[in-house]
Amino acid sequence: MKLQEFHARELLSAAGLPVPRGRVASTPAEVRAAAAELFAVSASQVVVKAQVLVGGRGKAGGVKLAATAQEAEAAGSAILGMSIKGITVRRVLVAPGPDIAREYYLGAILDRAAQRILLMGSAEGGVEIEEVARQKPEAIVRLHAHPHLGLLDYQARSMALSLGLGGPHLRAAVAIAKGLVRVMVENDADLVEVNPLAVVRETGPGGLVTERLACLDAKITLDDSALPRHPELEARRDLDEEDPADAEARAQGINFIHLDGAIGCLVNGAGLAMTTMDLVKRAGGEPANFLDIGGGAKADKVAAAMRLILADPKVMAILVNIFGGITRGDEVAHGLVEARAVQSREVPRVVRIVGTNAAEAAAILRAAAFETASSLEEAAERAVAAVRRAQMASATGSPEATEARP
Ligand code: GDP
Ligand code: MN
Repeated sequence: MKLQEFHARELLSAAGLPVPRGRVASTPAEVRAAAAELFAVSASQVVVKAQVLVGGRGKAGGVKLAATAQEAEAAGSAILGMSIKGITVRRVLVAPGPDIAREYYLGAILDRAAQRILLMGSAEGGVEIEEVARQKPEAIVRLHAHPHLGLLDYQARSMALSLGLGGPHLRAAVAIAKGLVRVMVENDADLVEVNPLAVVRETGPGGLVTERLACLDAKITLDDSALPRHPELEARRDLDEEDPADAEARAQGINFIHLDGAIGCLVNGAGLAMTTMDLVKRAGGEPANFLDIGGGAKADKVAAAMRLILADPKVMAILVNIFGGITRGDEVAHGLVEARAVQSREVPRVVRIVGTNAAEAAAILRAAAFETASSLEEAAERAVAAVRRAQMASATGSPEATEARP
């Protein structure tokens, strides 16, 4: 689950990191009021930022600076309602917008292969880090945090010095680097990223210019599996930006994984899901997704899973692979029949149900004229063949493949 920037900033702030504190606004008038408050305190400039769960807001025009409350209001009008990568902006963050001298990248991510937290830093901040990684991989410094002790002082210092943040910035840079890793561990995050981490210029009394470090953007992704441990973070989920299919899957207790191919896979159990993916690939196909309905699923859950699969236009064939243990084959079969009665489009499907009540399931499927298979290899091969037929049909303009039911 991704957190909105203003929520991510709160977590960094709570961990003692230097984050300019702002306010969230959803109308231009609220933007103006928030900006007026910041100007009254001390800000000489404010930044108005689109709060959407995608990167590249700056490039898309979703980040604007303003020198007066009136300018901030105008920026708010421009940004609110704008669409960034297909997402409508409903809220903006209004924060002090310091003068930037230099921009850095600093982020902690979960390195699954190394089973460690990886801290990455770059003096080429501000731009998307993926871009830097592609064009100038040597500009990214990487180091792994200690698995039990977190980021050690010497590691944080080494990172800071590699980025050129020594001297007056060393102490703050060390605290920020260690803080990112701490925030990651404490919140069960798999990404905590600050881009830009900026050296900002402040003009004090008597025109004295000082520089200090500030986190001007924050991106945090939480590990979904750990969310039950953090109800306060779950409460920050942005339902407006969640794919409705994902929301329904979550509500139904279905584990829904999106992939790129054309075969929708309905399975029970993670291991069986992996095996099913492998066999689909071995048969020359590509899965469009898999939906793991877990153990003991009833007919309504199966029907919901079928609805979700059919709602994905990429799906050209469906493979149902159930190994009944606590899950009863006849329940699954009933769910499949139920779903077909109300489905929005017809797609070839192959069903393989073994284990508990497999015989009852077979009778139900036979009566409803479902295509069945006795082995998983056979089921996978037939699903792949069905996709090939559908692709040929659509290439030659025959309506067979995607014909809608009355
Ligand atoms: P992103 O493009 O979605 O990652 O949004 P960012 O928050 O990183 O903003 C994009 C760019 O806007 C940054 O790299 C900065 O150059 C600029 N920017 C963001 N916040 C501030 C700020 O507080 N002050 C100034 N001067 N520029 C900012
Ligand atoms: Mn950014």
